[in-house]
Amino acid sequence: MQAWVIDKISDLTKENKPLSRKNLPKPKPKDGELLIKVKVCGVCHTELDEIEGRTPPPDFPVVPGHQVIGIVEESNVKNSKIKPGDRVGVAWIFSACGKCEFCLSDQENLCPQFIATGRDVNGGYAEYMTVPEKYAYLIPAVFSDEEAAPLMCAGAIGYRSLVLCEANNGDTIGLTGFGASAHLVLKLIKYKYPKSKVYVFARNPKEREFARELGADWAGDSAEQPPQQLNCIIDTTPVWKTVLAALEFLKPGGRLVINAIRKENIDDQHLKTFDYTKHLWMEKEIKSVANVTGDDVRNFLKTASEIPIKPNVTTYPFEKANEALLDIKNRKIRGAKILRV
Ligand SMILES: [Zn+2]
Ligand SMILES: [Zn+2]
Repeated sequence: MQAWVIDKISDLTKENKPLSRKNLPKPKPKDGELLIKVKVCGVCHTELDEIEGRTPPPDFPVVPGHQVIGIVEESNVKNSKIKPGDRVGVAWIFSACGKCEFCLSDQENLCPQFIATGRDVNGGYAEYMTVPEKYAYLIPAVFSDEEAAPLMCAGAIGYRSLVLCEANNGDTIGLTGFGASAHLVLKLIKYKYPKSKVYVFARNPKEREFARELGADWAGDSAEQPPQQLNCIIDTTPVWKTVLAALEFLKPGGRLVINAIRKENIDDQHLKTFDYTKHLWMEKEIKSVANVTGDDVRNFLKTASEIPIKPNVTTYPFEKANEALLDIKNRKIRGAKILRV
């Protein structure tokens, strides 16, 4: 089968073809697994974190991609709920141990043996992949393949971020950075918290314009003072400047949720400006979002199909995987990016 692989860590400011195309053997589903013929796979900023070594794959080569939509071709599962011919999605969670204190308390995202799709095992930038049935999700018919793919990560992790905000309807909510995940969270907030005002912080004027089109009540530069203080802010940027700014803009008792698997170190000098009184005093909180659980994906898919949340997507042909990644790096395209396999 045709596949794109990460062979090594690369510097994307110098390397413009970080993935190489390979002909790999078609995978065989192990006990409890499904074989999926991939139709589309979302392109995520996390692929950049893998390629640039911030969350490196443990072994090379590996097929990236963790927002996969495809058709089940073969099942190696007894009494399977999912049958060959069904359309399923695969997300960042490929498996967890199922026995530790986290797995036993609905926090499998924190499992020390968490296995990530497209980093620790092969993912969806390929014609086929395998996945444990437990971590394959039936996709509601209301979504096309392209619409469903970004829901698997950008949507599901965005959903988890909003749950961690513990917001109430009417709370003021900020979104720092306005890429694939934040644009879905904005749609989700408008549905779940219709009385809430949403403030978007983005350095790119096109992203601010996009946010206003989608119903943001205010959009400013990444560290611009908003017209009022906020109850919670979700940060999806790879930088630090926004973290300090967001903490400053929180109301007393407010919460900052960072939805970023890794931060880059390009602007970590901002951390030296951290001021306890300004940034954390008055019971402000800061929390990260780590991975997703199977239930996050299932719950989000259900909510997204009821609304329905339709992502704004740009589709690339399979040949253009490297171009799609560089467009994310250079923040060229708004909304979510999809590879058609
Ligand atoms: Zn992702
Ligand atoms: Zn576990």
